[in-house]
Amino acid sequence: MTRSNLLLDDVTLTYPDGEGRLTALDAVSLEVPAGTLTAVVGPSGSGKSSLLAVAATLVAPDRGRVVVDGRETGALSRAEKAELRRSRIGIVFQQPNLLPSLTAVEQLQVMAHLSGRPVREVRDRARELLAAVGLTDKADRRPHQLSGGQRQRVNIARALMNEPSVLLVDEPTSALDHERGASVLDLLVTLTRERGTATVLVTHDVAHLDRMDRTVTMADGRLSASVTEAA
Ligand code: ADP
Ligand code: MG
Repeated sequence: MTRSNLLLDDVTLTYPDGEGRLTALDAVSLEVPAGTLTAVVGPSGSGKSSLLAVAATLVAPDRGRVVVDGRETGALSRAEKAELRRSRIGIVFQQPNLLPSLTAVEQLQVMAHLSGRPVREVRDRARELLAAVGLTDKADRRPHQLSGGQRQRVNIARALMNEPSVLLVDEPTSALDHERGASVLDLLVTLTRERGTATVLVTHDVAHLDRMDRTVTMADGRLSASVTEAA
């Protein structure tokens, strides 16, 4: 049986909105098995980023369960959630937020340094991941010496540094041209298979959905049944 690495069960999230509450997620359920990628599409404001924030344990839902790698997150303390994020969850936002003064390989090493792993092991893993995202010869470049697509690849490699079970990616191609965007999406599909992550990808790039294992649509905080389901 496949290990299910991410489970959202009947999750509702509201935000304060004037006198009342705005429902950002409305009884959303989603199961993402290890080694598969689920794409989430839907209009702006439909709740896609909220879905990722809840899955990342950055925002606690009003109702429902979030289970990461078999662990119920509802009862965890703030510190326990931070540790869970550091060790089990990789997050890739739209903007890479790389540190300007660090080389590509250093951006990755910083991540693992925070988790207290041995320097040599960290350096080898950082190099290996940069190779996996096609940046072997760019490891010693700083962000301003990289293209937008290359920076996003560093961002993705960094998110994988601590070997997460769950990979959450929010519109990674919105700042890229079509061709670079397509190759970043391809890379995410490949990494998901190779690394066995349960990946959720929010994307507006509907041209490449046939490469995903599954696509779901958000509208007004509700998740619709799959529009595509790979055989
Ligand atoms: P998407 O990523 O699909 O554009 P979001 O999840 O960012 O959608 O937003 C869903 C809804 O929740 C929107 O109406 C948005 O304005 C609202 N929203 C998002 N974040 C907050 C917040 N921190 N406080 C209040 N409302 C928010
Ligand atoms: Mg968003």
